[in-house]
Amino acid sequence: PPASKGSISTTSWEKDTQPIPRLQIVDEHQNQDLPAYLEKWNLGDAGFKYNVVAVFGSQSTGKSTLLNGLFGTSFDVMDENQRSQTTKGIWMSRGRGMHVLVMDVEGTDGRERGEDQDFERKSALFSMATSEVIILNLWEHQVGLYQGANMGFKEKTLLLIVIRDHVGSTPLANLARTLQADLEKIWAGLSKPEGLENCKIHDYFDFMYTGLPHKVLLPEKFNEEVANLRCRFNDPAHPDFVFKPEYHKRIPADGYHIYASNIWDKVLTNKDLDLPTQQELLAQYRCDEISNVAFEIFSKKLIPFRQPILEKAQIIEDLGEQMLSIRKEAVDSFDKNASRYHQGVYEKKRLEMITKLNIQLNVLFVGQLKNLHKKAILTFDENLKAELKKPNYNFAVAVESCLKDSQELFLNALILPDTDWSYVNELNTLEEEFSQASTKARTDEFKKMTKSLAKQVENELSEPVTLALNDPKPDAWHKIIQTYTNTVENGQTTLDKIAKSFNSSSKELKESISDLRLQAWLVLRKKIDEELADTMLLLKLRSRFEEKFRYDDHGLPRVWKPEDDIDSHFKRAKEDINLNDDEGFEIESTEDFDFKQSLIVLSEAKQIDISNRFKRESDAFYLEAKRSVVSTTAK
Ligand code: GDP
Ligand code: MG
Repeated sequence: PPASKGSISTTSWEKDTQPIPRLQIVDEHQNQDLPAYLEKWNLGDAGFKYNVVAVFGSQSTGKSTLLNGLFGTSFDVMDENQRSQTTKGIWMSRGRGMHVLVMDVEGTDGRERGEDQDFERKSALFSMATSEVIILNLWEHQVGLYQGANMGFKEKTLLLIVIRDHVGSTPLANLARTLQADLEKIWAGLSKPEGLENCKIHDYFDFMYTGLPHKVLLPEKFNEEVANLRCRFNDPAHPDFVFKPEYHKRIPADGYHIYASNIWDKVLTNKDLDLPTQQELLAQYRCDEISNVAFEIFSKKLIPFRQPILEKAQIIEDLGEQMLSIRKEAVDSFDKNASRYHQGVYEKKRLEMITKLNIQLNVLFVGQLKNLHKKAILTFDENLKAELKKPNYNFAVAVESCLKDSQELFLNALILPDTDWSYVNELNTLEEEFSQASTKARTDEFKKMTKSLAKQVENELSEPVTLALNDPKPDAWHKIIQTYTNTVENGQTTLDKIAKSFNSSSKELKESISDLRLQAWLVLRKKIDEELADTMLLLKLRSRFEEKFRYDDHGLPRVWKPEDDIDSHFKRAKEDINLNDDEGFEIESTEDFDFKQSLIVLSEAKQIDISNRFKRESDAFYLEAKRSVVSTTAK
């Protein structure tokens, strides 16, 4: 695109007539100041909105004079009195009021043969590779082109041939024809690189011809024509506008100095000038530079996240969004400048950069993941503990809701920037840990429940058994078994509730119930054994016997009289005592426990032993009764 209508601000030298700074970009060496001068010329940020023109021609053909006239530059012009060479190497400046870089190239064929001629050839090649338009400045009689070099040019260059001191007697068209024929003849005679033997001059150059009047003899006419010629440089609407887009070398202004410098290196060392390769090299260099600048800013933006996440184990709620926006900023800033360069290189460097950014972000992501994991586990434990303190909680429901909350906490702070990162593994581990924690809580709670159930069973069994055995009625054992059955039934109701709370399987519930039966039975048997331990049993038998034998029907102690039938009283009291009471229970034994066997409370041997001991005690009562009658009758 033509640059002359750009929006770049003007500096003082553009408004007034102050000289525009100029730079000798090549003398014996290359000048390193070009980037600074591009800034000075306000073209550093011009992107593609600038054009480049160079001038060629023999020495002292008025090249510098023409450039100064066309572009308002201040290149040195030969002093008429000294007539010595002025322009050395290559000078550069910018056009006043146009975004045009202007190159004033040291004149050709004015030097001795040898090294100097070599320099001319090189500077010509350099300016051809870097300019869109070349003004070829000729006297009417001069025609000469430069010995070839291998030029892998892609973009065409416009050769604007300016015939100086054009008198007008020979029409310009005729001159142009002659020149064109000469140029083509020279081109045909050039040795061309392999594969390009048949290339035509028009494959590489477009031509325009113009003439200028004699500057000294017709100064006003000269100035007028120069002004007209200037329009071709700064008016895109002009039919002969020179800066056609196809001539643009597509070198962004911010990379121009590197490109120019690389080209000069190649030219200087007589290397083949492969411009596409040069453009790729430039793109690599500049994309790296641009990427580094963006990366610096990006890294600084990440600093505030590092300590909280990596050292303080904090969780940053909107880390995902923030990472996305910081990365976008970096990529945008890269795109803004780098996208103007070679597309293949730009895209490759862009991917490289995103990878580099993601590596940095990943450190934070992994940190956040770790912190979230910790927090989720902690929250789960705390919440579950609180839930289990509430009355009438349902364990399964409580676990489910705590699980959901903790998972949400984990997932909500995890927005993945567009990457191949994943939290699946972490989430799997977390879920595994959740399940371990809830299993442990379940076991603990279950233990508590069964413990309190055992207490309940013991309480329900204890007193009825004591009562039934203290004053045994004929159906005492039935009553005791009934108590047992009731206790088991109550326990089963509790177990049903527990099963619902813990989401137990029916198998689990069945096991708990059979366990309850057994445990209650063992409690019962223990209680009975306690109640019927030898001394206790004897005490019970004795008080039962005494009640019948030593007290009358009104509960008053008997005072035996001689006419009393002590023997039959004694017999009746003894008949009431029966250790072998089989009320005939049916009970199924299980694999684990022989219920049938445990129905036997007193073995036969035990019955005999207790009976004998009881007989001795009761006999003592009998004798005491007999003696008391003897003693009362003896008085
Ligand atoms: P350069 O070496 O090609 O840059 O030439 P200069 O611009 O330094 O000019 C060399 C001399 O030619 C100076 O004395 C100019 O005044 C003079 N000169 C400039 N333009 C013209 C022109 O159009 N015709 C003639 N005959 N002389 C000119
Ligand atoms: Mg000059």
